[in-house]
Amino acid sequence: MNKRDQEVVSSDELANFLCLGDTTVRRDLSAFGRLGTRGLGYRVGQLRTRLLEVASPKEIIFGTVVGVGRLGQALLRSDGMLRIEGLVIRVAFDIDVQKIGSVIGNVRVLDASRIAEVVKRERTAVALVTVPPEAAQPVVDRLAEGGISAVLNFAPVHVTAPESVLVSNMDIFLELESLLLSLASRTSDKRPGADTETPDSPA
Ligand code: NAD
Repeated sequence: MNKRDQEVVSSDELANFLCLGDTTVRRDLSAFGRLGTRGLGYRVGQLRTRLLEVASPKEIIFGTVVGVGRLGQALLRSDGMLRIEGLVIRVAFDIDVQKIGSVIGNVRVLDASRIAEVVKRERTAVALVTVPPEAAQPVVDRLAEGGISAVLNFAPVHVTAPESVLVSNMDIFLELESLLLSLASRTSDKRPGADTETPDSPA
């Protein structure tokens, strides 16, 4: 809208664009100060400036990717998206000699035996762990040794770390399973006569 030189936008227009209710849009935006004018809407430039202020990361956090395979490389190549979140990946690690020393998406891949030393020296706060399941715990142990603050683990195993380390698990397949289960129950709810059927009803 800003690029199109549109000066004003109504909450209705924003709501349609975002697939939300206009009351939600007005209520949420009001959390950021008095931005709109009744009967007129929001000034696009002013709204944009304020939203950029609110959404911009307050500080840069240094991160690392451990395991530069398919997923690790995809994350390294999406550096722009990570930067929007305030995360700058400065270094990556792998055990594969073919990958050590290479540069992927501007990030150098180092030998994973150096994790603790480099994490400590570079003040790396966040690690994205994309190694095979059996390597995840030993990798998290090395990261914790180096003083990492937070780990996002993509391997489908439960990893533990000292209390000082925030650990979040990202199991895409578990998410998919839960989505498919919800879809299946919604589909069965919509079957004709489903709401009158009991589990014991004859087929
Ligand atoms: P991949 O086999 O392509 O890559 C794994 C990388 O980790 C390799 O480069 C390997 O050399 C490296 N590695 C192995 N042991 C290591 C260690 N101790 N230290 C550092 N590096 C090590 O695997 P992938 O497809 O990228 O998946 C990575 C992890 O993410 C797996 O646990 C997988 O289950 C999970 N995952 C992958 C996807 C996906 O879409 N690819 C989706 C969800 C979850």
